[in-house]
Amino acid sequence: AAQTVPPLHVRDVTVRFAGLTALDEVSLTVAPGTVHALIGPNGAGKSTFFNVLSGLCRPSSGTVRLGGTDLTRLAPHRIAALGVARTFQNIVTTEGTVADNLMLGRHALTRAGFAAGALRLPRAVREQREHREKVREIAELTGLGAHFDRPVASLPYGDRKRVELARALCLEPRVLLLDEPVAGMNAGERARTAEVVTEIRARLGLSVLLVEHDMGLVMRLADEVTVLDFGRLIAHGTPAEVRAHPEVLRAYLGT
Ligand code: ADP
Ligand code: MG
Repeated sequence: AAQTVPPLHVRDVTVRFAGLTALDEVSLTVAPGTVHALIGPNGAGKSTFFNVLSGLCRPSSGTVRLGGTDLTRLAPHRIAALGVARTFQNIVTTEGTVADNLMLGRHALTRAGFAAGALRLPRAVREQREHREKVREIAELTGLGAHFDRPVASLPYGDRKRVELARALCLEPRVLLLDEPVAGMNAGERARTAEVVTEIRARLGLSVLLVEHDMGLVMRLADEVTVLDFGRLIAHGTPAEVRAHPEVLRAYLGT
């Protein structure tokens, strides 16, 4: 663990869309350096929860805090700069090389700015080189090293989707929000991505909040699991506790 990660505290978050309560007083804590899974059927409110944490959706009530810092209602770029990075469900890059995409992920950290970079001011040149080294490291860590200078469009789907995870990591986040990181992947690609999540958590010491439908993956990776159904928190505990929970069985299996 290279850095000190504060806990992410979400308290009583409610989100209302016209006629629909997408989240109803949901609370959870992502403890430092842990993997916390957020699961639930389609429409349960998982992506909306991520949108609240990343500043894309304003909660009607409730708070989000990273350690002592209140993130509630901050703009997305402020939240990202404070160390909370995310991936999106159903978004996979098609443009540029792996390196290009990861450099974009560094954008929020570029102090000298792109104008200075274009003018090749010495500091900007140095920063650009540092960014490229960091990005190279992250590509290696996420199993994309061999593809570094290849167009993402030429990569197998699993690697292309993992570029999103790598891009979020380029912000050097303290908390990483992954929205269905293995959706659409085959078994081999899923296993590879699971290894990557285990590796980044061990090497970087960051916390992960993971939305995923693959229960095998959730059970293997998560320290804690929170279950949503129709915007309500219906269960929370260890993977084993949650798997045996009657309300979870009902929500998933309709029993
Ligand atoms: P999940 O990610 O768990 O599948 P979502 O958070 O995407 O669920 O959606 C939760 C509920 O909120 C769904 O009923 C969805 O249709 C609704 N919803 C999501 N975003 C919006 C929006 N911007 N406007 C209106 N309703 C929305
Ligand atoms: Mg979703």
